[in-house]
Parts: sequence; C-alpha cells; structure tokens
Amino acid sequence: MTDNHDIAALIRTIPDFPKPGIQFRDITTLLLDPTGFAATVDRLAAPYVGTVDLVAAIEARGFIFGAAVAQALGVGLVLIRKDGKLPGVTVGVDYALEYGTDRVEMHEDAMVPGARVLLIDDLIATGGTALAAIRLVRQAKGEVVAAAFVIDLPDLGGAARIAEAGVAAHALVA
Ligand code: 5GP
Repeated sequence: MTDNHDIAALIRTIPDFPKPGIQFRDITTLLLDPTGFAATVDRLAAPYVGTVDLVAAIEARGFIFGAAVAQALGVGLVLIRKDGKLPGVTVGVDYALEYGTDRVEMHEDAMVPGARVLLIDDLIATGGTALAAIRLVRQAKGEVVAAAFVIDLPDLGGAARIAEAGVAAHALVA
C-alpha cells in the first residue's frame, strides 16, 4: 500500500544548484520510486475528490504531478507555461523575479468562467510563481479552490503569501 510511504525520504537536496548557496530539492529521486510517486499523487489528489473541475499545472515539474492528479480526480488538465510556448491564443501574467521579470501563459479558451481549479506545482518557495498562476486563472474567470505542492519551503513565505491572496496551500513535505 502507498499510504505510509515516506515521501520526504525520497527527495534529495543538492547543494549549490543552480547557483552557490541554493539548496535545491530534487524530486527526480521520488519519480524513480513508483510506489512513492503513486503515494504522492494519491495524497495530492485525496482532499479534492469531487470538488474541482480542472487541474492547472505549472511548467515544468508541476506538469508531472499535475497530469497524474488530474487523472486521479477524473478532470481535465490545463497547462500553465512560460512565455511563448503555447501554440494557440494565450492570456498571460508578468511577475517579478529577484532580477527581472518572468511571464506565465495559458490558452485563453482553457477554461469556462466559474471553473473550479486546483493548482499544482512541485514546490512553493517565495510563492511568486503560484501567485502569478492564481492571477492567470482568475483573469480567465476560473476559481482557484486550492493550491497543492509536493514541497513547501515555509521559511520563504510562499504559502502565507498565497493565503493572503485567498488561496489555501496544501503541501506534503515541509
Ligand atoms: P517560487 O516562485 O515559489 O519562489 O518558486 C517556485 C518555483 O520554482 C516552482 O515552479 C519550482 O518548480 C521552482 N523551484 C524553486 N526552487 C526549487 C527547488 O529547490 N526544487 C525544485 N524542484 N523546484 C524549485
């Protein structure tokens, strides 16, 4: 059975990636473990059975978990991508990084107004990416029911930041 799986133990920390001083949480080791990966998907999806119409997943590692969670919940999957990657007509939101800005986009016809959306990414740090994704879904008139992450880095305040925006964060590992 998958429910007692120690998901945290399957995630490794790589020092100084992608630059000195960053402790990168690497989920590739979790993906290599099929029962750990399955337990992760079960736990991300469980609180939302029957309560959402769509999963919106954030590029790139969010796609891995978001696709599986959408299948587990029996709902469609919306891709939230970085600038210029989607082929159709898009809507987008720019957001600030430590240096410069970034942009997330979604197809403009990806959701009907009022759709109940579960946002998924692998990790929340400062919350800047998730907040931009929330703004994007709201711009398309979707309702962000919650945001679920495999990992929260609470010292960076992301979950608190998105809570201020009215979205509860759920994370499996902190
Ligand atoms: P934030 O916008 O919350 O500061 O950063 C979260 C985004 O950056 C997520 O899309 C996540 O994939 C990526 N990210 C930042 N740090 C890490 C990390 O240590 N490990 C992983 N797997 N992703 C990270």
